[in-house]
Amino acid sequence: METINRRTVLATGAAALAGVAALNDAAEAQAGPKAIFPVGQTTIPIAGSKDVFPVRRIYCIGRNYAAHAIERGSDPTREPPFFFQKPTDAIQVVAVGTVADHPYPLLTKNYHHEVELVAALKSGGTNIPADKALDCVYGYTVGLDMTRRDLQNGMSAEKKPWEIGKSFDHSAVLGPIQPVSKTGHFAKGAISLAVNGAVKQNSDLKNMIWSVAEQISKLSEAFELKAGDIIYSGTPENVGPVVKGDVLLCKLEGLPDMSIKIV
Ligand code: MN
Repeated sequence: METINRRTVLATGAAALAGVAALNDAAEAQAGPKAIFPVGQTTIPIAGSKDVFPVRRIYCIGRNYAAHAIERGSDPTREPPFFFQKPTDAIQVVAVGTVADHPYPLLTKNYHHEVELVAALKSGGTNIPADKALDCVYGYTVGLDMTRRDLQNGMSAEKKPWEIGKSFDHSAVLGPIQPVSKTGHFAKGAISLAVNGAVKQNSDLKNMIWSVAEQISKLSEAFELKAGDIIYSGTPENVGPVVKGDVLLCKLEGLPDMSIKIV
């Protein structure tokens, strides 16, 4: 009897499991296709909040300070701004008060720092007028548009895309987003970068050729901007190389400092 009972129990259990599997199949069919493996959403911490800022796209403006345009060999007159993108997962977030290890990247022998103001958008659109553009900004942070200058220059010389010089892993370094409700907007203010304590880049945001509002307006003529987009607003003059062991300290008046060590 005991044997029969056990068989009965087993059979009943198997039928129950089959029923559960059938229910699961039905539920999955109803839910639609599922990703075959997980891919993470890039996020940036928000200062003073448990919430995070989800990143959609990273735009960068080129040559937005006249003195940097000159050192890069172009005309600093007010010609339309130009833009490039970095992949969203190129972001390296650096917590306030820490010195984050930043890996020296592959291929390059001339790895450059570019300290920049970064604007983070909470809304977007197309053909946004400059006088409405700042309404799109959620907050700001200080960032580094790290650049494999030798590869960028090599591609430029051949009239090929910059991707390999600009759009690589860890190339978009930044601090937590500071909500604009706390910082206000940034039309002016000191921006600097020091390497091992020696100041290399030192300028003021008022020297930007195109303001943040104008950058958003011009970008939105070419791309539909959306919440989650961030914009690196260009670097002042005196970009230069870093090597393993260097400690970079970025300062932007009104924002917390941001620091990395090249490893
Ligand atoms: Mn840059």
